[in-house]
Amino acid sequence: MASRSSEMYMGRKPSPATVTQRQRFMTLSLFDTMAREKRTFVPQNPERVTIYVCGPTVYNYAHIGNARPVVAFDVLFRLLRHTYGEDAVIYAANVTDVDDKINRKAAEEGVDISVITERYLTIYNADMATLGALPPTFQPRATETIEAIKDMIGRLVAKGSAYAAEGHVLFNTQSFADYGKLSGRSLDDMIAGARVEVAPYKRHPADFVLWKPSKQDEPVWDSPWGAGRPGWHIECSAMIEQTLGLPIDIHGGGNDLIFPHHENELAQGVCAHDGHDVGYSNYWLHNGFLNFGDEKMSKSLGNVVLVHDLVAQAPGEAIRWALLIGHYRQPLEWSGTLIEQARKNLDRLYGALRRSSEVEVLDLPPAASVMAALEDDLNTAQAMAELFALAGQVETEKGEVRARARAELLASAQLMGFLTQDPDVWFMGGVDEATRERIDQLVADRITARAAKDWAAADLIRNELTALNVEVMDSASGATWRIKEPV
Ligand code: AMP
Ligand code: ZN
Repeated sequence: MASRSSEMYMGRKPSPATVTQRQRFMTLSLFDTMAREKRTFVPQNPERVTIYVCGPTVYNYAHIGNARPVVAFDVLFRLLRHTYGEDAVIYAANVTDVDDKINRKAAEEGVDISVITERYLTIYNADMATLGALPPTFQPRATETIEAIKDMIGRLVAKGSAYAAEGHVLFNTQSFADYGKLSGRSLDDMIAGARVEVAPYKRHPADFVLWKPSKQDEPVWDSPWGAGRPGWHIECSAMIEQTLGLPIDIHGGGNDLIFPHHENELAQGVCAHDGHDVGYSNYWLHNGFLNFGDEKMSKSLGNVVLVHDLVAQAPGEAIRWALLIGHYRQPLEWSGTLIEQARKNLDRLYGALRRSSEVEVLDLPPAASVMAALEDDLNTAQAMAELFALAGQVETEKGEVRARARAELLASAQLMGFLTQDPDVWFMGGVDEATRERIDQLVADRITARAAKDWAAADLIRNELTALNVEVMDSASGATWRIKEPV
C-alpha cells in the first residue's frame, strides 16, 4: 500500500488537456511541501479548481503574522481566478469556533461562546478585507460541521482506522502506512519525540484525538461514543469534504501546521475514503513565519502587533505590500519601517499614475513579466520589481508605449490587489479629518484675500498650505487642492 499510495499523494498525473488548455494553464509552478520541490500546477478539473486554507481560531484579535497566510493565499486565489475564470475557483477558509481558548475567554466575560466568536470573526473579516483579501467562496465553521465530523469519525471507526476508548475516539496511526510522509517523520521518531505523558488509553503515542468528552461548561454534542466535542484536526478534514469534496487541488496554511495538523488531516481524509487511492490534497503549500524581534510573532509569546491596530494607522494596501515584500515561503522580519517602505513604494506607483492621468486609457491584461513572476511560485518581490519597471516606462516613454505601460501597470497591480484607489485619494490617505477641514478653510480664505487684493495675506496662506504639502489648482470655476507627493 505504501508505495502505491505515496505516489498518489504526490499529486495526480495531469489528465490529457487540449492544446489551448495546455498553453493557457501550463505555466504556474508551486512549491509542494509533499514533493519538496516546485511542481507545475495541473488542476483535476480546470472548471472547478479547489483550494482550502486553515483559518483562525476566533477568540481575540488577529496579529499581523496571522494575516500573512491570508494575504499570500489571496494572491494565489486571484491568480487562479485570472487563469481559470472567476467562477471556476472555489476557495474555502475555515474558522475554528470550538476551542479551549474560546471557552476560557467566554468564561472570563461570563458570556456564551458565540458572543466571543461572532465578535472576533466580524472584526477579522473586516480587517482582512481592508488588506485587500477577497472573501473566500466558503467560510465553514466547526460548530456548523458537527454532523459531517461525526459521520467521518464513524467511517474511520468502521474501517479500523480509529477506536473508541474511555469516552474518546482516537485515530489509529498504525493503520496508515504513510503516516509521517508529509512532515518527513517516522512513527519511531514520534515515539522518541513524545515529551508529554502519553494517555493510557492510546494504543500508540502518536494516536490523536478525533472526539473527546467536554469539560464542565464547555459546548457539548451527543455522539455514538459519548457526549463531547470534536478534536481540532478532524474539523478541517470534515469541512473540506463537506464544502469542496475530496481530493482538493491545493491545501495551504502556515508551516507550523505541517505537523501535526496537516499530517493528521491527511491521514483522516485518506482513511475515511474507500480505497486509499483517492488522495487528499494534490498540492500542499506552506507560508514561512513572520518574526518580530528575534522570535516568531505569536499570541503565546505576547510579542504581537494586531492587524486591527495597524489598519487604523496605515492604508490597507501598504500593510498588504509589506506582507508581500518577501517571498511567502521565507521568514519575514516585521518592523515599523516595513510599512513606511511599503508606503513609499506605493507613492511611487501612484505618483506615476497621477502624472499620466491624461494618457489614453487602454484595456490590456496584466504584463507578461508580472505574470511570469507570480507564476513562479508566487514571486511577489519580483512582481513588484516589474511594477516599478512599468512605472518607469510610464514616466519616461511617450505615446502608445506609454499608454500601454500605464494600462499594464494598472492591470498587473490590481491583479495583486494594489492601485485600487484614485491616486488623489491615495495621497489624501495621510490627511486626517481635522487637517482636511483646516485646508478647506485656508483655500477659501486665500480666495477671499485675493478677491480683496490683500496679497500679503494671500502669501501667508500659501506658505501655510505649502507647509501642509498642499497644491492648489485654480480654475475658472474655483479652486481645488490635492496633497503633493512626499519628496
Ligand atoms: P492560529 O489562529 O494561530 O491558528 O493561526 C492562523 C493561521 O496563521 C495559521 O495558518 C497559522 O499557520 C498562521 N500563523 C500564525 N502565526 C503566524 C506567524 N507568526 N507568521 C505566519 N503565519 C502565522
Ligand atoms: Zn486545518
